Amino acid sequence: MPFILALDEGTTSARAALYDQQGRRIAMESAPIAPRYPQPGWVEQDPEEIWQAQLDAARRALERCGVPGREIAAIGITNQRETTILWERASGRAVAPAIVWQCRRTAGYCARLASSPQGAEITRRTGLVVDPYFSASKIRWILDHVAGAQARAEAGELAFGTVDAWLVWKLTGGRVHVTDPSNASRTMLMNLAAGEWDDVLLDWFGVPRAVLPAIAPSSAVVGTTDAAWLGSEIPIGGIAGDQQAALAGQACFRAGLSKNTYGTGCFALLHTGATLPSSANRLLATRAASTDARAQYAIEGSVFIAGAAVQWLRDQLGLIASAAESEALAASVPDTAGVYLVPAFVGLGAPHWDPDARGILTGLTRAASRSHIVRAALESIAYQTRDLVVAMEADAGQPLRELRVDGGAAANDFLMQFQADILDRPIVRPADTETTALGAAFLAGLAVGFWRSVEELEGFWRVERVFEPRMAASQRERLLAGWAEAVARCRWRA
Ligand code: ADP
Repeated sequence: MPFILALDEGTTSARAALYDQQGRRIAMESAPIAPRYPQPGWVEQDPEEIWQAQLDAARRALERCGVPGREIAAIGITNQRETTILWERASGRAVAPAIVWQCRRTAGYCARLASSPQGAEITRRTGLVVDPYFSASKIRWILDHVAGAQARAEAGELAFGTVDAWLVWKLTGGRVHVTDPSNASRTMLMNLAAGEWDDVLLDWFGVPRAVLPAIAPSSAVVGTTDAAWLGSEIPIGGIAGDQQAALAGQACFRAGLSKNTYGTGCFALLHTGATLPSSANRLLATRAASTDARAQYAIEGSVFIAGAAVQWLRDQLGLIASAAESEALAASVPDTAGVYLVPAFVGLGAPHWDPDARGILTGLTRAASRSHIVRAALESIAYQTRDLVVAMEADAGQPLRELRVDGGAAANDFLMQFQADILDRPIVRPADTETTALGAAFLAGLAVGFWRSVEELEGFWRVERVFEPRMAASQRERLLAGWAEAVARCRWRA
């Protein structure tokens, strides 16, 4: 059986990729998923659309190469994390729209919780900062707002899952309800050290144990797909949240290796091996994808709006026709002429954690042009990443040697060079930047013996380009001072 199929269910699209024995991607298909914004700060998706888009992408990937389902050794699943779905076990129908990770509807609830004595204890148990980002408050919201949901959850009629568990449920025709530690560690209901659901947290959030999936290792066969979907019963061998999958796809399997993904948001992760991390700088401690039965950990920092700021330039402002066009426009001016964009459209993530901050465009003069604003948007991605990396280095007690990059916006050479300059560290871009799907494939392939070892996987990783820092320290310091000032202003409120 010559191939591994990776299902990569992201925030804006569901993708499916096929890999051969040498870890080469031979096909990739995608289907878009529409977000809905029913109120300011709210973000929803249709769970059925997520499933159908994923199935459609998988079928087209197989068709494109003429590969029948029986030639797939295993499926690996990776997914947008934290996004919360509750469904009826009997019918497989969702009882509410998926509440997407970006959604801020539980900001008030989380603010009260964070300032209560329970706040610090939640962080101690989960490694997470109390914030609407994570699943627990989103589950609470659905149980509170869907008629009868709490009672039905307690009676065992409902199932909760992040998108991985939802897809496994659908793929197995409702036979398997399972997640992995990397996803479970983002729900705010898992005890990070124990790797199990935590009764104290379940009690505080009022979430009945009966709704929860089992937690299986990230690289393990958890079930087989119904033959109806892809023409054959295929083992599901890997599950990991998108960022932990990307860490694996970047061949960061050991303590000290780090990556940053530039997608809708930015996610920087530093592998800490078997050491349970704790952050003194408001980053998250989380589970890395486990390549065997042992627990593996990472420190993570997330920026909510990164590539999404470029989408905003395109869709809301109409300043660019395509995301790729931002590169030439930004490079057409020597600097932003003092303009800063802080895209705090849904508040600020790590290390600020301010759900009430809102975006700001500052430093405007009559000379400010489209190019300056576009450049400021790209630079904001690099500044936000730097804020994460500074906190990460402080937690780790040592500077990063390099940062491996991936995600849609990592294709932007201007952004990568500016990132190297503002970070003062080399930026390393691999040949295959679809590392999320690759990581899911790695985990699935390891589980079924398609690949034998982590060392074999490390051999597949290839550098495409290294961006060396070349900005003068004085210029960097001047720019960073301006950024700090702009961030302070976006946190102003009446
Ligand atoms: P996700 O997995 O979060 O859906 P992707 O990794 O596919 O995201 O990246 C898509 C994001 O990257 C979009 O927000 C898009 O605006 C941005 N993007 C894509 N190409 C570029 C580019 N050349 N320059 C800047 N941003 C880009």
